[in-house]
Amino acid sequence: ASTNIASTSTATTDLGAIRHNLAGVRARVGDRLVLAAVKANAYGHGALAVARMIDQAAAADWLGVATAAEALELREAGVRLPMLIFSPVVSDAAALACVRAGVDLTVASADTLDKVSRAAAQAGVPASVHLKVDTGMRRIGCPPDAAPDLARRADAAGLHLRGLFSHLPVSDTEDGRAFTDEQTARFAAVADAVAAARGRVELVHLANSGGVLMHPGTWFDLVRPGVMVYGNLPDPTTDPTVDLRPALRWTTRVSFVKRVAAGETVGYGRTWTAASDTIVATIPVGYGDGYSRQLSNRGRVLVGGRSCPVVGRVCMDQTMVNLGPDASAQVGDEVVLLGEQGSDAITAQELADLMGTITYEVTCLVAARVGRTVT
Ligand code: PLP
Repeated sequence: ASTNIASTSTATTDLGAIRHNLAGVRARVGDRLVLAAVKANAYGHGALAVARMIDQAAAADWLGVATAAEALELREAGVRLPMLIFSPVVSDAAALACVRAGVDLTVASADTLDKVSRAAAQAGVPASVHLKVDTGMRRIGCPPDAAPDLARRADAAGLHLRGLFSHLPVSDTEDGRAFTDEQTARFAAVADAVAAARGRVELVHLANSGGVLMHPGTWFDLVRPGVMVYGNLPDPTTDPTVDLRPALRWTTRVSFVKRVAAGETVGYGRTWTAASDTIVATIPVGYGDGYSRQLSNRGRVLVGGRSCPVVGRVCMDQTMVNLGPDASAQVGDEVVLLGEQGSDAITAQELADLMGTITYEVTCLVAARVGRTVT
């Protein structure tokens, strides 16, 4: 596609909202360091723009990514902040590139420790690592009682053991409180055991957004918020102790308008029938853009400040919306898929509920085909 032809829809990331949300995190956690998770293209918000802003404004102290490719893309774009890859890097080449780029790596076993040692030896520069302990997530990490030995082994291999961390699966709901408390106690005991074995690790960290919002005991030296950085709660029931502003707005324009008579059907599978004469608009956005097919006959968009239901099935590239019988909308009018228009707003949580998922997935789904801007 020609780069000077506009995309059919645009996702706008409000960097001011992200700064506001990070300032709220800082205010809540006091003198703890803040790592902003910018993995998965900054939860679909555009990792480059978000990371550059955070770097230049010192809005956070660290960045967290999921893969070596994500880390290296940010380094190549000039982002200088300390960076941690949350999961073990699989290939030797990726480990080497990350060590050279000064990206901190996760060590979760003796194997991953050896891989990073080899990369550091080959690079001829010290590698900084964070030891991941599994305290109950059962995803990655060493068993709690293996941590002191692994820490000593990292020291013996000449690695800079900069961090010790674990992850919380239920920090965002009231009924997860007991399990989170147990994990926190288990993790604190690991940190003590490692300190006794080789001295205190510089950065002990546990809290995700749920931890920041609901569990001060999980804050230790550094917190790792993700979803709240982008203005969403990890769960609709999470105690909202920090004022958050949603950072993503997704808009398109009406591409076609026509009258549909009572009794006529709209779209694939003929799943919607007009109950009375009405005006139906088409928008140039579909599941190929990340507007989920789960929103067929369920979602709504804002046109001219009015709420207009999605009618029929969401197609790959187009979607139909019912404007109502007295609509005056025309081709080219703004349509809001996510965010505010007039006094109404469609939230990521509203879409997540309709799609049977979480806000994380709603924002991550926004596809590469969608145009990007920042404000
Ligand atoms: N820390 C780790 C290790 C993660 O994997 C994630 C995201 O899943 C986060 C922090 C941020 O979590 P959240 O977006 O729930 O704040």
